[in-house]
Amino acid sequence: MGKLTPMMRQYLDIKNKYKDCILFFRLGDFYEMFFEDAKTASRELEITLTGKSCGLEEKAAMCGVPFHSAQNYIAKLIEKGYKVAIAEQVEDASKAKGLVKRDVVKVVTPGTVMDAELLKDNENNYIMSIYVDEGGIGIAYSDISTGRLNSTQIIDDNPLGALIDEIVKTKPREIIINKNTHNGINIELEIGKIISPYISLFDGWAYDLEYGQNKILKQLNILSLDGIGLSDKNYSICAVGSLLEYIETTQKSSISFIQNIRFYYLDNYMVLDKFTRRNLELAETMREKSKKGSLLWVLDKTNTAMGARQIKKWVEEPLKNADEIQGRLDGVEELKNNFLVMEELKDYLKSVYDLERLAVRISYGNANGRDMTALKTSLEQLPNIKNTISNMESSKIKEIRERIDTSQEVTEIIENAIVENPPVTIKEGGIIKDGYNEELDELRYISRGGKEWISNLENMEKEKTGIKSLKIGFNKVFGYYIEVTKSNLSLVPEDYIRKQTLANAERYITPELKEVEAKVLGAQDKIVELEYDIFLSLREKIKEHSLQIQKTASEIAQLDALLSFAHISNEYNYVKPEINFEGKIHIENGRHPVVERMMTDEIFVGNDTLLNKDENRFSIITGPNMAGKSTYMRQVALITLMSQIGCFVPADRANIGIVDRIFTRVGASDDLAQGQSTFMVEMSELANILNNATKDSLIILDEIGRGTSTYDGLSIAWAVVEHISNIKNIGAKTLFATHYHELTDLEDTLDGVKNYCIDVKENDGNVVFLHKIIKGSADQSYGIEVAKLAGVKNDVIDRAKGILEKLESDHVKPTIDYDEVKEDKVEYKEEKIQEVEKEIAVCEQQLDFFVPSEDSKIVEELRKINILEMTPMDAMNELYKLKKLI
Ligand code: ADP
Repeated sequence: MGKLTPMMRQYLDIKNKYKDCILFFRLGDFYEMFFEDAKTASRELEITLTGKSCGLEEKAAMCGVPFHSAQNYIAKLIEKGYKVAIAEQVEDASKAKGLVKRDVVKVVTPGTVMDAELLKDNENNYIMSIYVDEGGIGIAYSDISTGRLNSTQIIDDNPLGALIDEIVKTKPREIIINKNTHNGINIELEIGKIISPYISLFDGWAYDLEYGQNKILKQLNILSLDGIGLSDKNYSICAVGSLLEYIETTQKSSISFIQNIRFYYLDNYMVLDKFTRRNLELAETMREKSKKGSLLWVLDKTNTAMGARQIKKWVEEPLKNADEIQGRLDGVEELKNNFLVMEELKDYLKSVYDLERLAVRISYGNANGRDMTALKTSLEQLPNIKNTISNMESSKIKEIRERIDTSQEVTEIIENAIVENPPVTIKEGGIIKDGYNEELDELRYISRGGKEWISNLENMEKEKTGIKSLKIGFNKVFGYYIEVTKSNLSLVPEDYIRKQTLANAERYITPELKEVEAKVLGAQDKIVELEYDIFLSLREKIKEHSLQIQKTASEIAQLDALLSFAHISNEYNYVKPEINFEGKIHIENGRHPVVERMMTDEIFVGNDTLLNKDENRFSIITGPNMAGKSTYMRQVALITLMSQIGCFVPADRANIGIVDRIFTRVGASDDLAQGQSTFMVEMSELANILNNATKDSLIILDEIGRGTSTYDGLSIAWAVVEHISNIKNIGAKTLFATHYHELTDLEDTLDGVKNYCIDVKENDGNVVFLHKIIKGSADQSYGIEVAKLAGVKNDVIDRAKGILEKLESDHVKPTIDYDEVKEDKVEYKEEKIQEVEKEIAVCEQQLDFFVPSEDSKIVEELRKINILEMTPMDAMNELYKLKKLI
């Protein structure tokens, strides 16, 4: 340390306090980075690495970015998952004795960014704090750019499962946590399996209960936690307290903009585990992770950024409370029936900017003149919006109307003070209107008068000297000057004082000119300073209203979301679902909201659904691949979910009993792309369903047991049907698609189980998919026909047909004697197994008939195939592979 230059010592002192950050160290017009930080930054930002003498033998690695474009570089680093600490000069350089004091004024982390450029309009950017304790887990998360903070706690045997569900739902960019393990399980690893936020351990003391209580009371300036539902929620309090502490340490300033702290019960919302969220493609598609193709893509026709964030939250948080659901549905219905209201609202909402984030920017203190005019334009729409919905009677819309505060006093302040088109910066004047402040007007009068005098001077001097090309100009170094070209130098009067010589002209000043200039420039400086002060005080004044604006923003967001539901209901012909408490799901002519939208030249075939708690609990659905089984089952799940977010649904009629959870388990082949052990994945998803489903759940099972041999798979599927359909165990409403035709016999033996199949027509050896669900079971798989439709070569198709015929005529297909399969116990007799083994041997011999000479790779592949263990889907995949070998 001793040898270091004083500046380097200062740098290292600060860096030591911010070891986990990249330190941006302000030197003049640059932020410089040193040592390891410099190496990281130069690599990540692709900027040149240089060196700086620092007193040591070796130069310190250094790189830098210009202060005025630092935002972009910070954004890049945050995007890549780094934290950035920004150190500025914290004393006036002219008053400093020796080295100017520097300190960190702000830490930018992935979850606490505030700058508009770093945020996505339609998405929340969450920072989450997790408090882990023996007895439970507290969760708090906030999008600080909106000032909202939500918290919940989980007290049950498996809090980790519910924690992971919340994390999948909110997808925080950053997580802080008090410790890494719970009952020996590494939480960070568990989270890492689904998303990769920036995770760090935060100081233990910040999770102290009493500290948390006081922190929250102080933050909201209240005397008791009762009012926000947090009083006895100790785990939550610890999470919220630590989160506030963390935000404060990053912002390094007052965080008064966080005013909206809310406790929610997990139990109020439908539970959707990570598999189900992914499978149902609620906010993004499974493969491309794009919004296009997701449910949200269909439902989101909002006009404002707040509305877009709101509708996303609704889609991700379906309700369980019937009154709340009904409230939204009635609101949507009323809007839908008032076309003119909808059109007007749309127009007004289009002019509403992101009120929520604007309000926070104002409290936070980084709002500029343009934010003010955006705020004014937005607030100006509010009376119109209120007026447009003034005759609406549904309770939800009435409530929204009553809660919208038009904040006209704020509109007036801005209207009176701020010019129509203010500049981006607030430090160069040009923001405040004439007539708003007397002193400012006076200064402007002087400045304008002076400028006018100067511009008149040009003509006067031209006349006086007779120099036609004489010009008055201005530059930052010399101020105002008179310019005369070389050819006219002889006409220059005596009293001109020469100031600068150019290639073909001379520049002069006169005492008179300088006198006026001093007045103009003096006034100008004062104007800039005064405008800045006025602007800051205006911002302070408006800040008093920011909480009220934040609250209004949340009402506008909901109105916009409801309007979007109404809009798509009209556009796509959706109906209002009825809500029942009997656990019945009855859908007439239902459609899949997304598949329907993706279709260009075909028409989506609607289908009925009846599920209840009695004789129609469990539907076994058979039918060939591509018939539409998955589409059908997902459509039932989506229609149920849409009803519970208060949206109309794609059907002729729908009556939906509220479900507590939706579970989905989709076919193994869908996971192949991810290269996981498909059978393990499948079984762990199944275990999750069996452990957590209740009689009020809706379960979608697509092809259980396909990742293993036919017998294993069939046995598992069989046992699953028995277990779930039994009301003593679960009795949940279930749709189960399967290729095991053997399972259709269960309709006769198990209560509540019904068979359905998707109709296909056979026409001259070609299959035609009707996509219509009918009662009964499919008798054929049509695997080869589907392969043909998929474009597998005719040679292979013909050969496959031949093999199939042979196999069928020789009866090599194993059959199970169902009488031997007892409930709760699936076992195969020894002789049966021997019989099957013999059949397999016969089948393998038969394969020897097929010896095409020209391509032995195909033969090799074919030999590897064990047809007995294949499902039709496997067969199709295999044929596809074979085709590629031709
Ligand atoms: P399966 O699960 O039986 O293999 P899918 O549900 O994946 O079949 O459906 C295959 C394709 O058939 C879908 O991509 C869609 O294009 C079409 N399809 C499915 N259901 C319908 C329907 N009801 N109306 C029209 N086309 C449908």
